[in-house]
Amino acid sequence: MKRILLASAALAFSASLAWAGGHGGAHWGYKGETGPAHWGDLSEKFFMCKEGKNQSPVNLTGFVKAALAPVDMSYMPTPVKVKNNGHAIQVDYAAGSKLTVNGHTYALKQFHFHAPSENTIDGKSYPLEAHLVHADAQGNLAVVAVLFEEGAENPTVAKVWQYMPMEAGKTATGSGTVNAADLLPASHDYYRFNGSLTTPPCSEGVLWLVMKGHPSVSAAQAEKLQRAVHGPNNRPVQPLNARVVLE
Ligand SMILES: [Zn+2]
Repeated sequence: MKRILLASAALAFSASLAWAGGHGGAHWGYKGETGPAHWGDLSEKFFMCKEGKNQSPVNLTGFVKAALAPVDMSYMPTPVKVKNNGHAIQVDYAAGSKLTVNGHTYALKQFHFHAPSENTIDGKSYPLEAHLVHADAQGNLAVVAVLFEEGAENPTVAKVWQYMPMEAGKTATGSGTVNAADLLPASHDYYRFNGSLTTPPCSEGVLWLVMKGHPSVSAAQAEKLQRAVHGPNNRPVQPLNARVVLE
């Protein structure tokens, strides 16, 4: 059992590296023959995309009340270096920012965006979702998700979008810094469940913390992300199966 756990941790770690670097693996996308319905068949490495029973994203529903521990997010500003990896717009994070939950600490590695949201809440979709991706020393992943509702322009998103490369594979470095803390809603109340990466190789064992609050984003901001990645970049929701969503 221990060996299995270590192997899955190693898999999750390589998944996070693959995500960060965008190297290796088959070409995949969000539509047509390389779209989400086919991910599991594009590469043997992507088998979890079709075989997994704890996949993300999900429609959060059927909430189970639990005494969830407060999350402590200790985030520093990081340089505004914005990457278009062809699938999302991403900012890699400098070392030193961390998330602590239930006495367990994860380092913030990067944040990136999906439009529209990947997770839905009681069937409701949101125009934009940010994923703050963290890893602990063993490579276990924790993702903090923020679902933005349509409204006023979001100043932190604007800071990132200002340098958003509209071409895949390009990175632009802006002046100044951006802080992932500024993407969070005022309240850090959250939903919690176990899931996976929402992109190939769809590795499981990812701790998901979805913020209950919804900062605003303008329709134009959400639309600009879709233009940069040539369409919606959300994987459809996956079955909850045996999982429960804690709140
Ligand atoms: Zn994501």
